[in-house]
Amino acid sequence: MKKVVNVGGVFIGDGNITIQSMTNTVTEHIDDTLHQLRALYSSGADLVRVSANTKDAAKAIYTLKEKLGKPIIADIHFSPTLAMLAMEAGADKIRINPGNIETADLVKIIKYANQKKTPIRIGVNSGSVKKEFLQKYPKQEEAMFYSLKHYVEFFEANDFNNLVLSAKSSNVSLNIKVNEIIASHFDYPLHLGVTEAGIRESAIIKSSIGIGSLLAKGIGDTIRVSITGDPMQEIPVARDILSVLGYRKSLNIVSCPTCARCSLDLEEIVREVKSKLDSALDVDIAIMGCAVNGPGEAKNADIGIAGAGKELVLFEKGEVKGRYNRQEVVDVLIERIGKMRD
Ligand code: SF4
Repeated sequence: MKKVVNVGGVFIGDGNITIQSMTNTVTEHIDDTLHQLRALYSSGADLVRVSANTKDAAKAIYTLKEKLGKPIIADIHFSPTLAMLAMEAGADKIRINPGNIETADLVKIIKYANQKKTPIRIGVNSGSVKKEFLQKYPKQEEAMFYSLKHYVEFFEANDFNNLVLSAKSSNVSLNIKVNEIIASHFDYPLHLGVTEAGIRESAIIKSSIGIGSLLAKGIGDTIRVSITGDPMQEIPVARDILSVLGYRKSLNIVSCPTCARCSLDLEEIVREVKSKLDSALDVDIAIMGCAVNGPGEAKNADIGIAGAGKELVLFEKGEVKGRYNRQEVVDVLIERIGKMRD
């Protein structure tokens, strides 16, 4: 039975895959960070992390939490002092890489986290696995796994099991292999992400494969899609990955690749429909180039349109309901979707 971790009222490991992101503002610049936290939460993030990279940043968590009213996770590197300050300020979870913290300091962090009931994510990265593990285990995925195992056992030996685990790499295949091993050994919730995945275009591919292939096997409890730049880009990609795999309901537009039978600006129609609908809307829409195959091919869609010469037919569950010209069809489709949801 998988353990469930409570992060300020948001549960990780209860079967619902949560979406995470991280701010990139200077944490202690309260207005900027608050603005980004609010934007991320309103666009669909379930949990957001901030860098606790200075004392001011760690202390700022108190004010941010008070104004935000949502959970905040603190990202800690190297400094036990910052970990303690972040927990004191009310961080709902901290993320540490125990490989870069001294053993005695780790014990202090664990004791305080136990006292405060603060969950800890042990994050192991392929780039920071200690030499002793790399020498003992030539396969990188095994070196990462045994490094993580070592720390899990250390936390457990110190009576701490309020854990989330993660092992990340920018190498997608390695990412998949190590997380498969971890999932088969531990029942702690698992945080998935492909680290340093690059700008949007490459991050989408790497994350879809690196995170999606694990989720498809039932591995993973919370995800973060890392994209260089504005973190707001991350949420729709994360939601799309979850939606494609059936973990979340959201707007699903299927459209054909077009061929000689299509005499319409189909790509433009798809973009227009997408731009006019809320991406969180739970509806399957088909937009097909021709009526010869369109409605039949898309019979599982709730509603759709298909080219028919210079007109388009509108169909619902594979049955044709009317014919419209190009100018009116998008508005008619949007109106019908609105009625379906009334
Ligand atoms: S739906 Fe029609 S236009 Fe689109 S690919 Fe199939 S046959 Fe071609």
